[in-house]
Amino acid sequence: MVRKLIAGNWKMNGTRAGGTALARDLAIRYAEMPDPAFDMLLCPPTALLVPVGEAIAGSGVSLGAQDCHAEDSGAFTGDTSAATLRDIGAGFVIVGHSERRQYHSEIDLAVAAKAEAAHRNGLVAIICIGETLEERDAGQTLAVCSRQLAGSVPPTANAENTVIAYEPVWAIGTGRAATVEDVSGVHNHLRSEIARRVPEGAASVRLLYGGSVKASNAAELMAVPNVDGALVGGASLKADDFWGIAESCK
Ligand code: PEP
Repeated sequence: MVRKLIAGNWKMNGTRAGGTALARDLAIRYAEMPDPAFDMLLCPPTALLVPVGEAIAGSGVSLGAQDCHAEDSGAFTGDTSAATLRDIGAGFVIVGHSERRQYHSEIDLAVAAKAEAAHRNGLVAIICIGETLEERDAGQTLAVCSRQLAGSVPPTANAENTVIAYEPVWAIGTGRAATVEDVSGVHNHLRSEIARRVPEGAASVRLLYGGSVKASNAAELMAVPNVDGALVGGASLKADDFWGIAESCK
């Protein structure tokens, strides 16, 4: 059994006061759990990484960023390197989120380069993939996921430094989560496909589902074989909602 990971992607939300209060609340709950059955990760906006890191210090909750640059330093105004993220205490970084692919024109090659930068700097890369509604309607879900997996997972990937997040674009922020059947089909497919990219330990690469996960649907989604956790957007912004999702992990 792979230990589940419940990751909160705060996106471009939060203030120093609100973000640290949320992080502290979750950190206390997590630290007070005698034997949590899940790992918890918070991914605040870059500007809040340091105060959120301070708020969760010593609790067992991990810190992650939402993106990184493929280079370790240089003339790239506005970007943040994986080296800097590591230096300020992050352990994870999300790469290739569909909002980066859509609004920043990130292609698989760029995502793979970012994931490789994360690996080079000792970070775990959470590599996001997922089909659009048009692709789903055209019956291309598995083909798109295979293509994105092949293009976005670099040769440096292994079970310790890489997490794959399946996030159907049509389910993100829409309130319309994928069904258990949808998720089961895609995750079983990803489990066999990942063996081609990560020959050693493919069975323990964590495969997260993301897209309108909430406390009311988390239990059934987290019970699907080959679902090793959740990447949560909207419902990660309130402690009770996020905690409710985490508690559904058995
Ligand atoms: C996300 O942004 O990764 C996400 C899954 O968002 P939401 O949970 O709001 O659908």
